[in-house]
Amino acid sequence: MSTTFHPTISEADFRGFEIVCYGDEDGHTPGTYANYEEASAAYAAGRESGVVDTICCSLNPIYLTLADFVNISNSNASDLLDMLGFRDAETGELEWAGSVPSPDMRARILVARALGSDVGIPAATTTGARGATMHDFGRRVGYFADVLTRLDVLLDACDRHDRDISWS
Ligand SMILES: [Zn+2]
Repeated sequence: MSTTFHPTISEADFRGFEIVCYGDEDGHTPGTYANYEEASAAYAAGRESGVVDTICCSLNPIYLTLADFVNISNSNASDLLDMLGFRDAETGELEWAGSVPSPDMRARILVARALGSDVGIPAATTTGARGATMHDFGRRVGYFADVLTRLDVLLDACDRHDRDISWS
């Protein structure tokens, strides 16, 4: 599971639907369609004729990509969202999805740089009570400094396109 930061999507970014095969099956036919009705009809017809399989083929909306997204694991996102102050005022729960104007995020990044922790977490391997082996790959020192710099770049793109920044 991961969390992705990106420019807030607008209806104007919508470009239709696509059928994509994430497998390596020969003959699975990708395609792009203007609307959901055409795409879902093609998906159903593809299942009938064998060029679409629900195991490896997906029907996705297509949006214009305005900038490279910043994608991080949820374990890192948990600490990042905490540093950025994204907690519900009443429940104290982390806000795993949201959208704020770019100046709001820039202010939060300033605070995170000043007050956040960027210490490393060593890698560790543990064995559970029933024998499952768990590898935690840890986190290197300076990881969040790099993520915050990537968010700066993303915010520049948000500003160029007059968009808020969203995450989920
Ligand atoms: Zn496929």
